[in-house]
Amino acid sequence: MAAAHIVVHYHELWLKGGNRDFFLSKLRLAMRRALDGLRIARITEPGDRYVIELLDDAELGETLERLGRVSGIANLGVARTAERDPENPLGPLCAAAWEEVRKETFASFAVRAKRSDKRFPLNALSIEREVGGYLHDQLQASGHSFRVDLRNPELTCRIEITPGPVLVYARRIPGAGGLPANTAGRLTCLLSGGFDSSVAAWKMMRRGAHVNFVHFWGGGAKPGESSVHVARELVKRLVPWQFTAKLYLVPFEPLQREIMRQAPEQYRILLYRRLMLRIAERVARGGRSLGLVTGDSLAQVASQTLQNMAAVGAVTHMPLYRPLVGDDKLEILEIAKKIGTHDISAEPFHDCCPVFLPKAPALFATAQELDAAEAGLNPEEMVRSGLQTLSVERYRYTQGRVIQVESLREATA
Ligand code: ATP
Ligand code: MG
Repeated sequence: MAAAHIVVHYHELWLKGGNRDFFLSKLRLAMRRALDGLRIARITEPGDRYVIELLDDAELGETLERLGRVSGIANLGVARTAERDPENPLGPLCAAAWEEVRKETFASFAVRAKRSDKRFPLNALSIEREVGGYLHDQLQASGHSFRVDLRNPELTCRIEITPGPVLVYARRIPGAGGLPANTAGRLTCLLSGGFDSSVAAWKMMRRGAHVNFVHFWGGGAKPGESSVHVARELVKRLVPWQFTAKLYLVPFEPLQREIMRQAPEQYRILLYRRLMLRIAERVARGGRSLGLVTGDSLAQVASQTLQNMAAVGAVTHMPLYRPLVGDDKLEILEIAKKIGTHDISAEPFHDCCPVFLPKAPALFATAQELDAAEAGLNPEEMVRSGLQTLSVERYRYTQGRVIQVESLREATA
């Protein structure tokens, strides 16, 4: 038997206009990188779709799993190939189509054909009619109850006559959607160990942004004593979507203690956030990022009222993106489960912020109030000290694994 073929469909929407070649080359590159190390015979492009031909069917499961993390893919079909028989061109098509649908359960069906190889003797309409009629008779003979529904079928058997193989498949697996990786420019995400910020980063990555991460940590340096290991695991889970990522680790406790000593208690948490944003902005500028990302969600916690988000955000000069701002917690957790970050964040860890949490945090602060609360502090000096003590880790996704490339200290001025 010939090895499996995977038909990859992408959304047409992002192909409008002159960017078509750019997006398609990025999608192709992303698939190549995602499948690195697997035995792929070839990737062809028989018009408006890609066909990936495997050499080894044993790798089908892993191939599909890896393609599931390639954004820009609308859906995937695992196809069987049909022979070309000049004497009887329909025979092998009907047989393959029957193999595809016979074990499926459905109330209505349709056959859709696409002929990009014009040498094939029948056109798409005739193929649909003939194969549809054959399936109809077979289903009836085997006692299936069903309707033919050309408008809104529950099951669609697809036949693609490409210049290469003739492909037949009935089931489609949903892809990740979104836009191809690394097509939109760079962003820097403030990554905590919680559920929200990794989902926020993923949402931007899926739209084609490349995201680097800044994590602020307190507590001890050993695993289990701080949130550093959680941030690392989260980044490792996200890297396959964009192939590389940097994680900046900033020791935050000394800076928090200073805020605690100098500033009114009810503003503490907001001042931590301001300082995080200032430091992250400097890191972002050094890395030529076009904006910052946080996991803020409207009114989820005290620091996320509209007033507090405005008062905190006032210190950045870069665009600040909050892709979860209108999402419910349940929606966020749903995505976290889907992308595999949920269980990492669910483990207990030492979060730096709650440690010095005020009893009654301000709910409706203004930027002016926070400016006044910072009067006894020297934010510029604190940013410098944060940048001096940070460390950087680089991650890369290759051969289906995430590896840490090197660990180095980087002075970001
Ligand atoms: P998350 O689930 O992402 O922690 P949250 O709903 O718990 O979010 P907060 O903990 O108040 O809310 O954090 C709001 C946002 O601030 C986070 O989504 C993240 O972007 C940023 N943030 C909070 N703590 C840290 C941290 N230790 N390091 C980096 N960024 C942080
Ligand atoms: Mg949190």
